[in-house]
Amino acid sequence: MNALTVDVEGFAESNEESFTIPPALLDSSSRDREVARNMRVVLDLLASTGTHATFFFLGRIARDDPGIVRETAAAGHEIGCHGEEHRRIYNLAPAAFEQAVREARQRLEDVSGQPVLGFRAPDFSITKASVWALDALRSAGFAYDSSIYPTALHDVYGIADSPRGIHRTASGLIEFPLSTVSLLGRAIPFGGGGYFRLYPVMLTELLIRRENAAGRPCMFYIHPYEVGPERPMIPGLSPMRRFRHYYNCSAGSARLRRILRRVSFCPARQALSERGFLETR
Ligand SMILES: [Zn+2]
Repeated sequence: MNALTVDVEGFAESNEESFTIPPALLDSSSRDREVARNMRVVLDLLASTGTHATFFFLGRIARDDPGIVRETAAAGHEIGCHGEEHRRIYNLAPAAFEQAVREARQRLEDVSGQPVLGFRAPDFSITKASVWALDALRSAGFAYDSSIYPTALHDVYGIADSPRGIHRTASGLIEFPLSTVSLLGRAIPFGGGGYFRLYPVMLTELLIRRENAAGRPCMFYIHPYEVGPERPMIPGLSPMRRFRHYYNCSAGSARLRRILRRVSFCPARQALSERGFLETR
């Protein structure tokens, strides 16, 4: 079984460190309305296909809109943590990061009523500059992390020589890396998000099957704004930026439904249990 994960955040806060966003679009009530509307579509789609997933929530959502965390947990999904606010880890101080994720994890557990074992870094920002975060996550009580993209092909994230399969890090934390495929000696990312929007659905399916045939479950991720109808249009973006952040978003729901019909997915926790990395609940 492959892991299906959803990084729950608003479009503007997701891209705050990528380009300039007008302050009005970062207003908390508009971003929470957007998240709630898009999450409605995600939760209904998963219910209609009988799929369960891991939802990595920002800690601040458990504070600002706890109802959506509760509803997701009540629908049988796994609740994970995506940090307190959407900030790249390599820009944070280690002690402040550990304190913030400890609090975010506690709040998500209190609100959801389930243990929170997994972490996903905003923008996959555990890189060589921030590997210290793996120890901090272990100290904060997490059992697994899914933040390392073992590729050299992105400008924001990636650890090129990190293992492509699930492994234990020196801190004892389990790492479930984002999926890549090896092509001409390079690790090409295909684990979801922008890659899923860019590649034909059949190509994503083919790559997942290829990895599965080699004994590796895939780690797939998506954002609510890549599935639901709400995305603020940010003014002044270059054509390249517009392409990178909006391409195929409006077809996201239909494309996700197609891949869910053709490939078996489950929460990350279950995929890790099946591989003997975590004890079954
Ligand atoms: Zn994110």
